[in-house]
Amino acid sequence: MKLLVVLFVALASAASFSLDREAFTFTKYDLDGTIEPEQQRLSVRGSLTLRNDSKTPQKNAALQISSSLTWRSIQADGKPLQFVSQPYTSDIDHTGELSEAIVTLPTEVGPGKSVELTVGYEGTITLDATRLTRIGMPKESAAHSDWDQINRLSSAVRGAGNVVWYPVAMDAANLSDEGSLFEILGRWKVRESNAAMHIKLGSSFANEGRPPMVICGAEGTSSYEVMSRLGQSSAECNFSPLGFQAPSFVMADYAFLDAPQLQVFYREEHKDRAEKFAQAATAVALFVSEWVGTPRRKVLVAELFDPGASPFESGLMLLTPLGDTDPKLLQIAMVHELTHSAFASDRPWISEGLAHFVQAAYREHQQNREAALDLLGLHRAAVMDAEKATASKSKDAPEEPLISTAIDAFYRSKAAYVWWMLRDMLGEEALKKALANYRPDQDKDPTYLQHLLEAQSKHNLGWFFDDWVYHDRGLPDFRVESAFPRKASQDNYLVTVTVEDLGSAGAEVPVKIQFDGGEMTQRVEVRGKGKATVRVATPKPPKQVVVNDGSVPESDLTNNAFKVGAVAP
Ligand SMILES: [Zn+2]
Repeated sequence: MKLLVVLFVALASAASFSLDREAFTFTKYDLDGTIEPEQQRLSVRGSLTLRNDSKTPQKNAALQISSSLTWRSIQADGKPLQFVSQPYTSDIDHTGELSEAIVTLPTEVGPGKSVELTVGYEGTITLDATRLTRIGMPKESAAHSDWDQINRLSSAVRGAGNVVWYPVAMDAANLSDEGSLFEILGRWKVRESNAAMHIKLGSSFANEGRPPMVICGAEGTSSYEVMSRLGQSSAECNFSPLGFQAPSFVMADYAFLDAPQLQVFYREEHKDRAEKFAQAATAVALFVSEWVGTPRRKVLVAELFDPGASPFESGLMLLTPLGDTDPKLLQIAMVHELTHSAFASDRPWISEGLAHFVQAAYREHQQNREAALDLLGLHRAAVMDAEKATASKSKDAPEEPLISTAIDAFYRSKAAYVWWMLRDMLGEEALKKALANYRPDQDKDPTYLQHLLEAQSKHNLGWFFDDWVYHDRGLPDFRVESAFPRKASQDNYLVTVTVEDLGSAGAEVPVKIQFDGGEMTQRVEVRGKGKATVRVATPKPPKQVVVNDGSVPESDLTNNAFKVGAVAP
């Protein structure tokens, strides 16, 4: 017996020795799952196609699922394959660990060649926030963040990055190592963005009360069937291409509201709240369509039963608690979702960045520019952290330009700023016209959008796209180098301001001249590591110059103000 154990350990370590976990891209998934809410169980049977994208033939493949699930079978051509299952520590799953099967393939798979596997796995998905609590997050807030579980009352499970409920293969990610999770997961998302995934989920129920609904996406179908005492709920979804989505599902005995812009699945007692969501969506619909066109499809909102759960979106599906939220905040949230439903792009920085930008534009419409910049400002820390993490990487690590990045903080937060800067530079009309001309199927060349914008605005945007979209040049760092005031005539002063950008990314930035009882603002284009001069006339002696009102994300905001000296005679 002892010998057997030793042999097993030796096998496992030999297998992992030469294993390239990222050699295979999973190009096709066809999965059929059964949910048993009472037991908190999920069992899945299905097939996977793996393509060897490495340069060397592969004899082994790694298949990873959540540590709370167990591999039952892995086959090729109807024949069981040998595999070793081992725990693998990685924070791409809420449990902080994966069940990794290292499979011996029937024959070596050459570069560019594919292999189809039939797999079976099952287990439980219970509330588990181990990956967060072990890095010191308090239990309660960790549970509001990692809320995924299958449960009798309600089930909600997000895909890879939260719960690895479908097989993946990637290197270990570690939340305590800054940027590691986003980098590993980002690499996976890019590799998998062209994959096709078909999922079917079913659950049987006793025929009493309202039948439970299983939902796997806004574009999928959900149905149920009732035979005398038993019923069967099912859902079917196709994600092809998968893009950056993490296929997710929910299940509960939801009540349903069909509104003009939304489909809301809610718990019975929250009917009024579901209606508030629908009203918020109606209130913002016109504003959104003026920016990005008419919605193509209804947004699906499904209620999370934990009132403290952080919301999650995947495609046109929004999973969120239906709280007693301020209607103004609900409107902002709905702006994001309706933008998605009206405007499609396979480029995440365009689709997500734009959705976040239109939220800020709506905030400006609700109140003013300052309130909009405050909303945009909530993205600033995320951008700064992500820039720091990429800057600290080795020189040969790949760049993270907006055009290709899979890092959330870039394709959402940094992209939101980029859209805002474009709006400030080109004006609302030109930007709206360019967006109206955007066709996702024509967006093949990276410069497609730049040219659409240039055609509407007569601006040369090459330098801007170089610094912000095609490359990651970090953030600007503006300072006022000098400000020379002089008296131009009676009651008229002229101040000459030189602004320097210490960073490598340039931008057009507002310069504000303050004087007693008022201020004047002028915009100036400053290139990375460059300087630019602007002359501003004021009716009173200028007192202070401030560069950047927060509309340009900047690495250092402490050096932006400059006291103006005495007026030259
Ligand atoms: Zn979004």
